[in-house]
Amino acid sequence: MGLVIPRGIVYHNVNDDVSALLRSTYSSLNDVAPIRKFEEKFANYIGCNYCISFPFARTAIYYALKSRDFKIGDEIIMPPITIKSILDVVLDLKLKPVFVDINQDTLSFNLENLKLAIGPNTKAILITYLFGMVPQLDYLMTLCKENELFVIEDFSQCLNGRFKDKKVGSFGDIGVYSASSTKTLDTYGGGLLVCNDENDAKCLRGHQKSLQPAKRTQLIQKIITDLIRNIATTRLVFHLFVFPLLKLINFLYPESVIKHTGDRKKEMIENLPQDWFTSFTSFQANEGLRMIETIENSDQLRKNNVNQVKSSTSTVMFPTSVKNAKSVYWQLVAYFDEPAKVQKYLQSKNIDTSTTSLEYIANLPAYPIKGDTPNANKLYYNGLFVPAYPGLSETDLSHISHVLNDLQII
Ligand SMILES: *Cc1c(COP(=O)(O)O)cnc(C)c1O
Repeated sequence: MGLVIPRGIVYHNVNDDVSALLRSTYSSLNDVAPIRKFEEKFANYIGCNYCISFPFARTAIYYALKSRDFKIGDEIIMPPITIKSILDVVLDLKLKPVFVDINQDTLSFNLENLKLAIGPNTKAILITYLFGMVPQLDYLMTLCKENELFVIEDFSQCLNGRFKDKKVGSFGDIGVYSASSTKTLDTYGGGLLVCNDENDAKCLRGHQKSLQPAKRTQLIQKIITDLIRNIATTRLVFHLFVFPLLKLINFLYPESVIKHTGDRKKEMIENLPQDWFTSFTSFQANEGLRMIETIENSDQLRKNNVNQVKSSTSTVMFPTSVKNAKSVYWQLVAYFDEPAKVQKYLQSKNIDTSTTSLEYIANLPAYPIKGDTPNANKLYYNGLFVPAYPGLSETDLSHISHVLNDLQII
């Protein structure tokens, strides 16, 4: 058997991160020109008129919602699975989240459930393209328009996903992309908001101007996080150190299996942290200008790998694309009846996997509002990552298919 296959990667090479770390200690952070240049480039890239940069996707969503005059208790349709901070932002704005279940194939809202959930107080919807899957957007957008919903698309996991050759992020009123660690375009953090309406753009530009100056320490921390993840998922380091450690944790804490993402804070927060409201930097914009040229290539490599694994694996259930949709499969997930057992078996075959590190926000014990979302439940607990990212070799890919095909006999 070859070196262990990690569950995922960072889309930088280690040298880039080291170089960025050095430069981040002295480079200027607040030059407006590169920021505007990158915003313009990103808007064009998605096919929108405007891009306004924020420090996080959650911040972009916060201001997008603030740009409309919603009343206390107005409802926003939310995905049951995403990062918790987005729920914190929605609650801080005194909106009422309504969680709608996903479709098991497209990982987007199940249209029947969505229709039932829309009522007189429903004012907004947050469409989230989980794991890089694109749903049937004609039906979804028609339903949103008929009900005059304010549509925000979170395409953090689906950059370059298309429906009928139009990129996701350009369908709704506002699109938001998180350029954070592990995403395909990673500028050491950032929330890139795109829109087409001039008044929206003006309003959001105003909010952008109200942000605090960027903090160098915050940027350096993000680069260090990227670098550590990057080194940890380097094949040899992963094989020799990280994987044995993960196995040991599994052995010592068998009930905690599966995630190993550390215990994230799951309590409700009182106030939104100030760090969420600092400016996107020109340093990050320059990284973005450089990195954006590489995305299509890495997308293509990943999609080829995904096709190969899917087509040579007959025993496993994967999400599937609908007609006219071009999904990007940021992470390939598959459903398993006994995920803990499968994880262990894959481990024994030198393949690392886990369930998602996103949060099941429709079911957080400390939060007052829950959802009844069985399909999301299944994705959260029974969906495991199958490695298919760029950089895997032919041998790796056929090993993965082989091991998956053998699952029926374990
Ligand atoms: C990574 C990710 C984010 C990250 O948002 P930040 O606020 O920039 O940290 C948001 N949404 C989704 C779906 C993500 O995968």
